[in-house]
Amino acid sequence: MRTLFAKRMDDETEANAHKGDWDMWNPTKEEWLWEFEYHKAKLQKAISDGDRRLICEYSADVGNLAEKAFNVFGKPDVCIDCNGEGVVCVAIGDEGMSRCELCSGTGVKEVK
Ligand SMILES: [Zn+2]
Repeated sequence: MRTLFAKRMDDETEANAHKGDWDMWNPTKEEWLWEFEYHKAKLQKAISDGDRRLICEYSADVGNLAEKAFNVFGKPDVCIDCNGEGVVCVAIGDEGMSRCELCSGTGVKEVK
């Protein structure tokens, strides 16, 4: 089921290619929040209306926006502990540091 959804996310990116290069889009927080609210509202209406075709389309749009938030604001780093097989989300100043889902490594070298 996740594979089907991931394919649908790719299909939506392709269908919206005329709007610009999705992969290169580096939104500000305000731009992302606006886009997310817009697409969230469309998905909410589709669900409220029970329109399965639009639910499939708009849920993929929201999925793509979630992935964009992960990539742009989460700033995942490849894990050096498992040679980049996994990713680690590191935020400077955070109390905790996430660990690689694959190897539980921190994915970063300790700064001394
Ligand atoms: Zn790792």
